[in-house]
Amino acid sequence: ELLANKIAAGEVVERPASVVKELVENSIDANSTWIKIELTEAGLQQIKVSDDGDGMSAEDAEHAFLRHATSKIKDENDLFHVRTLGFRGEALASIASVSKLTVKTSEGDTASTFLRLEGGKVVEKNKSDARKGTEITIDDLFYNTPARLKYMKSLHTELGHITDLLNRLALSHPEIRFEAIHNGKGLFRTSGSGDLLHVISSIYGMNVARKMLPIKHETLDFTVHGYIAKPEVTRASRTYISTIINGRYIRSNPLIQSIVRGYHTLLPIGRSPIVVLNIDMDPILVDVNVHPTKLEVRFSKDKELYGEIENQIRSKFREITL
Ligand code: ADP
Ligand code: MG
Repeated sequence: ELLANKIAAGEVVERPASVVKELVENSIDANSTWIKIELTEAGLQQIKVSDDGDGMSAEDAEHAFLRHATSKIKDENDLFHVRTLGFRGEALASIASVSKLTVKTSEGDTASTFLRLEGGKVVEKNKSDARKGTEITIDDLFYNTPARLKYMKSLHTELGHITDLLNRLALSHPEIRFEAIHNGKGLFRTSGSGDLLHVISSIYGMNVARKMLPIKHETLDFTVHGYIAKPEVTRASRTYISTIINGRYIRSNPLIQSIVRGYHTLLPIGRSPIVVLNIDMDPILVDVNVHPTKLEVRFSKDKELYGEIENQIRSKFREITL
């Protein structure tokens, strides 16, 4: 079973940013109103995520790190070559299997739980100080999988992936107060006021926030709302385009392309806009199971959606230049 966890880890835990993603998404799922992310050395030394969410009972906490998958893999060498395992409910077990992990969690009553795991095994179990919520600390990620540690790019690159991810999680959840710290230095903090423009200001700066135009449109199938930057505010990369479907950040190249097409000839060549778009639709129209990390999705009415977005952005600029 521990080997199975390590195998799954090869897929879920690609890099420190993957760990941060799973931990913060769990905090969001637990109805947290604030989430604090503390990183040391781009997360390779330590990742700590604290929240004020629902917490776990002692029983649930232990269960959270177990995994019941039957594995077809017999050999540890296959570790990073498996691409087809299922991952639901397996993220924590996978992360625990390649790190030293502690969890403090409480459902808000007096009983709160402390667990310490090494390489996926519980090595210490105790009571802890009660505070509603959960704090998970990951030390020495990949300490027992040197192959993976070797694949890690520079700290700079890893931190880039993490801030990219945290930015998008914060943009997807203006109602949650986020605080992100790296090596003791603040990366950003959001207010949790629920105002998307506030979050844009916290993350991209006030000068960018000032240049954002609100967009809101409804069809029978979709609601689109968010902010698009005036064409004068551009970036060299498309990572400043965030698309959020039903509250979850996703990545879809055709969707990004439809946004860029909406800017038409207004964007200088090689430049991308800053855009945050929330798209809400009947969940029946979205298939998020294309990839286990849920970044990619498929839409039933994709052509309609892409066309709608392109037209909306284009007519927004027509409206302001008239
Ligand atoms: P999944 O999120 O797919 O259920 P995970 O391995 O990420 O699988 O988490 C396992 C379980 O642990 C979750 O279903 C949840 O019940 C519990 N859990 C994890 N993190 C938290 C948290 N921060 N607060 C409350 N419960 C949590
Ligand atoms: Mg999870």
